[in-house]
Amino acid sequence: MILKIALLIIVLIIIYLFFFKVSRGENSPRKTNRPKIEGETMVECPVCGTFVSNKDAIIKDGQFFCSKECAKL
Ligand SMILES: [Zn+2]
Repeated sequence: MILKIALLIIVLIIIYLFFFKVSRGENSPRKTNRPKIEGETMVECPVCGTFVSNKDAIIKDGQFFCSKECAKL
Protein backbone atom coordinates (compact mmCIF):
# COMPACT_ATOMS: atom_id res chain seq x y z
CA MET A 1 0.00 0.00 0.00
CA ILE A 2 2.80 2.43 0.89
CA LEU A 3 4.56 1.51 -2.36
CA LYS A 4 1.41 2.29 -4.36
CA ILE A 5 1.13 5.75 -2.74
CA ALA A 6 4.83 6.41 -3.35
CA LEU A 7 4.42 5.36 -6.99
CA LEU A 8 1.38 7.65 -7.36
CA ILE A 9 3.36 10.60 -5.95
CA ILE A 10 6.26 9.90 -8.35
CA VAL A 11 3.85 9.72 -11.30
CA LEU A 12 2.25 13.03 -10.24
CA ILE A 13 5.72 14.65 -9.97
CA ILE A 14 6.62 13.38 -13.46
CA ILE A 15 3.33 14.76 -14.88
CA TYR A 16 3.91 18.10 -13.11
CA LEU A 17 7.50 18.36 -14.44
CA PHE A 18 6.33 17.40 -17.94
CA PHE A 19 3.71 20.16 -18.05
CA PHE A 20 6.17 22.62 -16.52
CA LYS A 21 8.72 21.86 -19.24
CA VAL A 22 6.05 22.11 -21.98
CA SER A 23 4.86 25.52 -20.74
CA ARG A 24 8.44 26.80 -20.62
CA GLY A 25 9.16 25.41 -24.08
CA GLU A 26 6.19 27.34 -25.50
CA ASN A 27 7.44 30.62 -24.08
CA SER A 28 11.04 30.44 -25.30
CA PRO A 29 10.42 30.57 -29.10
CA ARG A 30 8.37 33.77 -28.68
CA LYS A 31 11.34 35.55 -27.12
CA THR A 32 13.66 34.50 -29.94
CA ASN A 33 11.09 35.56 -32.58
CA ARG A 34 13.12 38.55 -33.75
CA PRO A 35 14.45 39.58 -37.15
CA LYS A 36 17.59 37.53 -36.63
CA ILE A 37 18.88 34.72 -38.83
CA GLU A 38 21.35 32.12 -37.56
CA GLY A 39 24.88 33.47 -37.76
CA GLU A 40 23.67 36.79 -39.18
CA THR A 41 22.63 40.00 -37.51
CA MET A 42 19.80 41.99 -39.04
CA VAL A 43 20.50 45.70 -39.18
CA GLU A 44 18.07 48.47 -40.02
CA CYS A 45 18.88 50.83 -42.85
CA PRO A 46 18.77 54.37 -41.37
CA VAL A 47 17.48 55.81 -44.68
CA CYS A 48 14.55 53.57 -45.69
CA GLY A 49 14.16 51.38 -42.56
CA THR A 50 14.63 48.09 -44.40
CA PHE A 51 16.16 45.24 -42.42
CA VAL A 52 19.19 43.74 -44.09
CA SER A 53 21.72 41.18 -42.87
CA ASN A 54 25.10 42.61 -41.89
CA LYS A 55 26.68 40.36 -44.52
CA ASP A 56 24.70 41.99 -47.36
CA ALA A 57 24.71 45.50 -45.93
CA ILE A 58 26.88 48.30 -47.27
CA ILE A 59 28.94 49.85 -44.49
CA LYS A 60 29.64 53.57 -44.76
CA ASP A 61 30.83 55.81 -41.90
CA GLY A 62 30.13 53.00 -39.42
CA GLN A 63 26.47 52.66 -40.47
CA PHE A 64 24.77 49.83 -42.30
CA PHE A 65 22.84 50.63 -45.48
CA CYS A 66 20.61 48.29 -47.49
CA SER A 67 21.80 49.49 -50.90
CA LYS A 68 24.26 51.81 -52.61
CA GLU A 69 21.42 54.25 -53.23
CA CYS A 70 20.78 54.61 -49.49
CA ALA A 71 24.51 54.87 -48.74
CA LYS A 72 24.70 57.54 -51.48
CA LEU A 73 27.64 55.91 -53.16
ZN1 LIG B 1 17.84 51.65 -47.39
